[in-house]
Amino acid sequence: MTSEMLTGRTAVVTGGASGIGRATALLLAQQGAKVFTADFSPLHDENDEQFGELGIEQRQCDVRSESELAAVFDVAARSSGRVDILVNNAGIGMVKQIHDVSEADWDACIDTNLKAAFFGCKHAIRYMAADGKGGAVVNVSSNAGILPRAHDPVYSISKLALSGLTKSLALCHSKDRIRVNAVCPGPVGGTRMIESELDAADDRDLAIQNLIAASPLARAFGRMITPEEIAQAVLYLVSDAAIMVSGTLITIDGGKSLGVPPQPE
Ligand code: NAD
Repeated sequence: MTSEMLTGRTAVVTGGASGIGRATALLLAQQGAKVFTADFSPLHDENDEQFGELGIEQRQCDVRSESELAAVFDVAARSSGRVDILVNNAGIGMVKQIHDVSEADWDACIDTNLKAAFFGCKHAIRYMAADGKGGAVVNVSSNAGILPRAHDPVYSISKLALSGLTKSLALCHSKDRIRVNAVCPGPVGGTRMIESELDAADDRDLAIQNLIAASPLARAFGRMITPEEIAQAVLYLVSDAAIMVSGTLITIDGGKSLGVPPQPE
């Protein structure tokens, strides 16, 4: 990839304070984009210096609120004239069986992982379509957005629906030169979401081993996927290299969703 692929473009990255969103915000900014992050839990101590050097603007925003999301797009469009890129990345896990899921649990997971992506698209597409130039949306789905998983049914439902949203809006807005794609990662190490799941495990080391064992390539390399490896796929999808790519789900899960992995030797 050449440097400065995104010079002159404006990007909004939700959930950009940590993990995959942070790596994506940094990479898009390094490629010349003016980046706005939208996160309800910004990590100023960790991010302010590096984000400042790259001109990344951090907006406090709960993506479950349409009005808060709309305000981020208005600020981004006011400063740069338009919005070219949206990465719907904010998300939460929900490791619970159905009898333990409350209405509040359901709303938290579905509103963060699905509703916010829909309203993010609504407001981004408004700006992308206005001048006929179009734009690119990437939804951060999951391997659970390819095949459901037994341990987190509500999360799986949210991500399967996000994959459906990706294809549906890609179909609706190709006429506007707007491309809508998704990445389907996992297991990605070092993020707040995965760390909290590991902290909740009875045996943290065993939980890490199990995550790695479920993904054939992660097992072969002896490690989880990195946030930066996901960000590279997002960069491809928002760049002109993918100008004819829409409605695609790029799976970056080390083969986890291909089928039943071989038994450990
Ligand atoms: P993370 O927790 O480090 O990042 C998620 C970010 O979203 C956090 O900064 C958090 O503050 C923010 N966020 C959550 N709810 C929000 C809300 N209501 N409003 C605004 N911001 C909110 O975890 P991550 O692993 O980097 O997750 C990023 C995305 O990747 C999520 O959509 C997740 O489902 C997806 N994903 C992660 C993995 C993995 O293994 N880590 C696997 C598959 C998919």
